[in-house]
Amino acid sequence: TYVVTENCIACKYMDCIEVCPVDCFYEGENTLVIHPDECIDCGVCEPECPADAIRPDTDPGMSEWVAFNRKYAEIW
Ligand code: SF4
Repeated sequence: TYVVTENCIACKYMDCIEVCPVDCFYEGENTLVIHPDECIDCGVCEPECPADAIRPDTDPGMSEWVAFNRKYAEIW
């Protein structure tokens, strides 16, 4: 899965939402989040993010961000 990380805070761009083929972006408190169970790992959103906030969960130290994304995605 891909996850939204801290660079998303206060970002006003929504380019990632527009390209996601499965609509798995949701609004968190001050970031967007990706639902980890709905993301199909296509990677299309990563280069679209102008803030470089979207990372694969295989990057080091991503487990907390996966939990953060899940928490806010599951509110919806
Ligand atoms: Fe959507 Fe693909 Fe990005 Fe996952 S990797 S959030 S499916 S665009």
